[in-house]
Amino acid sequence: MSGRKPLIAGNWKMHKTIKETLDLINGIKAGLQGNEAADVLVAPPFTALSAAAGAIQGSTILLAGQNLHQEPSGAYTGEVSGQMIHDTGATHVIIGHSERRQYFGETDDLVNLKVKAALAAGLIPIFCLGETLGEREAGGTFEVLGRQLEGGLKGFSAEEAAKIIVAYEPVWAIGTGKTATNDQAQEVHYFLRGLLGKIFEKRLASETRILYGGSVKPDNAADLLACPDVDGALVGGASLKVDSFIGIIHFDR
Ligand code: PEP
Repeated sequence: MSGRKPLIAGNWKMHKTIKETLDLINGIKAGLQGNEAADVLVAPPFTALSAAAGAIQGSTILLAGQNLHQEPSGAYTGEVSGQMIHDTGATHVIIGHSERRQYFGETDDLVNLKVKAALAAGLIPIFCLGETLGEREAGGTFEVLGRQLEGGLKGFSAEEAAKIIVAYEPVWAIGTGKTATNDQAQEVHYFLRGLLGKIFEKRLASETRILYGGSVKPDNAADLLACPDVDGALVGGASLKVDSFIGIIHFDR
């Protein structure tokens, strides 16, 4: 037993109005009955965060933003700061998702600044990294992941790094229906944990939660979560419906 409690996190991306958010949260709350196996987190869009914070009260559901700006405030039209996210009642924030890297040009350096900004605002970063299909096929998986991990966590003390949740999301498995095999996921998670141990310290590495993301569904969650270094799931599509998200949360049944 690792002692790391699994975390099942739902990334809702640009889906759900406020009403849809409340309906989904109420459905998840009802479905959670008797859940003890995993912590549960949802990441609705910014517009629904405050309402979601009200809806999760009295439950164990955790709340996250999906991104933040690296500056605490300023003339950045359309952007949202860590403090603003914290102010809604959210406790976590997703950073460096592959869609942010791919469509919004986020680099390892920017991700690093965003992780710093999240910690400064009192938010727990869910720091995402992952290789593309081309990088995997060219044999570059570990080099890419090593660069992303070291770049994203550059300059952090062990105390700061201990607050971070890592999410391995192979880009080729996100929204594609293709999932990493258990062996592929375990191999990468083991590598990332080893690297965390080298950059910081072994104890920190053994306590850090490393989530897997990429087409996680109720029918593959149990096998993925049985891998010794997989400590939960970051779920996109299957987190948008009560039944499939609850099916993943109850992976142990
Ligand atoms: C994601 O976007 O973080 C994700 C893992 O998506 P999906 O589960 O739909 O592949």
